[in-house]
Amino acid sequence: MVIKVEVQESILENTYFYIDEKSHHGFLIDPGAEANKILSLIQENGWVIESILLTHGHFDHIGAVEDIRKVLSCEVLGYEGGDLYLLNPYYNLSSFFGEPIILEGVKKINEKNEICLKSSRSFSLKVLHTPGHTKDSCVFYNDKVAFVGDTLFKDGVGNTSFPLGDEAELWNSIKNKIFCLPESIVVYPGHGEDTLISIEKKRYQ
Ligand SMILES: [Zn+2]
Repeated sequence: MVIKVEVQESILENTYFYIDEKSHHGFLIDPGAEANKILSLIQENGWVIESILLTHGHFDHIGAVEDIRKVLSCEVLGYEGGDLYLLNPYYNLSSFFGEPIILEGVKKINEKNEICLKSSRSFSLKVLHTPGHTKDSCVFYNDKVAFVGDTLFKDGVGNTSFPLGDEAELWNSIKNKIFCLPESIVVYPGHGEDTLISIEKKRYQ
């Protein structure tokens, strides 16, 4: 099951839990702010978070990682090359919005990886590299869900006006990667409402 939690430091952001209903183990995606709110939910529901997954290294998607990792002591996974953002408050934009964030110790993944629950290996997410909004943007997906970060939204696409953004790359990622996924997949973006591949694909054809 997917549980969306809206969190906010300076920008409202979607943090997602992707939880296996049988084992109550799962993944936490983009904990961007409000670590205590996220930790309370985990405790109240008795969930075991095996990994924290990052769709990209912008401050509003990584802001609560350090505080949560301290408590849960779980691994944090992000796409290859992400240290450019994770270790740099200019590129992760935290220097423009408040306290500078430097996030070390993120384990790097690429499209060859499939992220499986240790407790239930069939509960898993594959990885698509979708650069454009950032160089390290990626999508975590399976045949039902896709967590797309800031690459695609309901009614819109990712912003490429930040440092290292690339509009041509973004469209390539959307059209040649995300839109090649099965149309029935539910798309969970980093901000705003969820949508379907089929709906967004129609908008740009
Ligand atoms: Zn972003």
